[in-house]
Amino acid sequence: MIEPGTVWLVGAGPGDPELLTRKAERLIREAGVIFYDALVGGEVLDLATPGTRLVHVGKRSGRHSKDQKTIDRLIVEAALAGERVVRLKGGDPSIFGRATEELEACRAAGVPVRICPGVTAASAAAAGIGASLTLRGLARKLTFVTAHARAGEELSLDWDRLADPEATLAVYMGKAAAPMVSARLIEAGLTGDTPVALVENASLPNERHFHTRLDLLPLAARTALGDGPALILIGQAVSGGSIPAREGAAVSTEMASDS
Ligand code: SAH
Repeated sequence: MIEPGTVWLVGAGPGDPELLTRKAERLIREAGVIFYDALVGGEVLDLATPGTRLVHVGKRSGRHSKDQKTIDRLIVEAALAGERVVRLKGGDPSIFGRATEELEACRAAGVPVRICPGVTAASAAAAGIGASLTLRGLARKLTFVTAHARAGEELSLDWDRLADPEATLAVYMGKAAAPMVSARLIEAGLTGDTPVALVENASLPNERHFHTRLDLLPLAARTALGDGPALILIGQAVSGGSIPAREGAAVSTEMASDS
């Protein structure tokens, strides 16, 4: 049982409630109050015990709600009031989830805080396209990068290091920056025909995915994606030709094998 006055940062996974860990499910059931993000699915929240206070603190680009400092304060106050606090975050809390701010706020207030990991969007996206993120001999490195930029601002990323033909890039929050990602990676040496997969709403019933190439990424991101969360996978490991490996669907035998 969660100790009263404790905070758990819990990974809610990419959306499909079956991709929650058993520990996350238990913590959600035990919580007295749950502060949850915009990307946490309704079916995940349905697992909370009736009577649990559910507080939406979500942020989606462009649509403002509570700022980070307010969230930090809310979780600390709830814990100091003796509540069993779950801070539920999409995917894994330690990946582009502002977990550090919340950990530090809790520690500064003397509030015990722990992390329950979750399935990150890149893993769900790979599952969606039925591909491996690493590929023996061809993709020995996997880089998680966020391409979130403020409107009108240039992304400050080390493009020369990112443009590694032997790596797979998993780009989070990259929809708006897709044209820049494509242009800078090609300038830095990746070829225009480098395989790209776009996966929107990974693991959810409305999941969609598209295979394209790096030089066509801007067009694909603009025309193919809706307004759901989307992950951009770049590199030889995610080349197309594979049939979506969703439940009940046949898996293509032509997929690149990494075994
Ligand atoms: N902590 C999260 C990431 C938060 S950043 C994790 O580990 O997955 C938010 C970004 O994650 C979104 O902009 C999108 O790029 C990606 N993302 C989250 N859920 C997703 C999903 N179901 N499908 C595709 N991308 C997703």
